[in-house]
Amino acid sequence: MKLEIDEQRLNSEIETLATFSDAEPPAVTRIVFTPADLQARAWMIARCKEAELAVRQDAIGNIFARWNGADPAAPAVGTGSHIDAIPNAGKYDGVVGVLGGLEAIRALQRSGFRPKNSIELLVFATEEPTRFGIGCLGSRLLSGTLSADAATQLKDHDGESVDEVRRKAGLNGNLQEVKLPKGYYKAFVELHIEQGPLLERAQISLGIVKGIAAPASLRISIEGAGGHAGGVLMPDRKDALCAAAELILAVENAARTSGAADTVATVGVCDVFPGVVNSIPGRVKMTLDIRDTDLARRDGVMQTIERASLSISAKRQVSIQSELLNADEPADCAPEVRSALADSCREHGFPFLEMVSRAYHDSLFISRIAPTGMLFIPCQNGYSHRPDEYAAPEDIARGALVLAESLAKLAGSAQ
Ligand SMILES: [Zn+2]
Repeated sequence: MKLEIDEQRLNSEIETLATFSDAEPPAVTRIVFTPADLQARAWMIARCKEAELAVRQDAIGNIFARWNGADPAAPAVGTGSHIDAIPNAGKYDGVVGVLGGLEAIRALQRSGFRPKNSIELLVFATEEPTRFGIGCLGSRLLSGTLSADAATQLKDHDGESVDEVRRKAGLNGNLQEVKLPKGYYKAFVELHIEQGPLLERAQISLGIVKGIAAPASLRISIEGAGGHAGGVLMPDRKDALCAAAELILAVENAARTSGAADTVATVGVCDVFPGVVNSIPGRVKMTLDIRDTDLARRDGVMQTIERASLSISAKRQVSIQSELLNADEPADCAPEVRSALADSCREHGFPFLEMVSRAYHDSLFISRIAPTGMLFIPCQNGYSHRPDEYAAPEDIARGALVLAESLAKLAGSAQ
């Protein structure tokens, strides 16, 4: 089998997909089910049909493009990622795994390979949390991590429900049927940019993921007492922002002292009310995002933060309420997928790094229902989710080549 990736075509497709966007280039904004996203999806489906893949969509808009194997009833080997993009993002997040996955399949077709198990490209719907406030909606439903009933409760910023939005996009199926049957996939591999600087620093162009860190996120609301910035003397104050400041530092400290570099915690949103120069902040709303590869350690950090919040609340006489938005479990990547990736790297003489995925991906959820692994390629300076996100064409092609080789190993040859 002689596998060749068409690097030029793959990169020109990445450029074309980037034109379906609501932002000025090089930025890409492609919120799920907006006209730009629907155009991108239609273009993607056309590329899959061009490759003679059998295409179907489910009720939430996950796109499946299947290359039937010699044993079409056997579980498929899956690959894929997402094409939706947060506001002002780059061209490569998710896209590399979708178009790289498609090119991997085309390279296998050109080589004359005939798979025993089917190979399927999966374009996950609504990976980014931008529209519905929850990331990986498509893969959560596929894996049964989120129920169809819970999904229908979700609304976008305009108050439109998931059902209204998807129906407008022409997706009229039953959400209950999105969940994949047991044993649907024999294995799943996602190709993705690293979204961190480690590969570039190590000057190694491939990363095989051992485990995927999982986030827990909370919405925290601090209620103090507002008042005139001149009139209320310091001993009488219940300044919600001062309490928030203490809590933010407690969050940082809890993550720093967890005992492992894998623990990270971030307060990314802090809204201050009324937010005027001469008024004491009476209320603060903030978000907290905590991630780790170890569930017990992450939950331990959450408890430390909870204790800090109780003591700050008592000391400053403010009320601190927190609402858990999600708390997902980290995942270990499957040994058989990791070894297929590692063997493929070795056969081509490509060095690789074994690493942890600190961002979470659809693979985190697919790992609940299938042996799953991820392959990373470097991105410049580790930048992602910004317009200057960049992955070199040769790195993308190398990733697609190792992916193709691994899909062939996992699916087996019909000859
Ligand atoms: Zn992504």
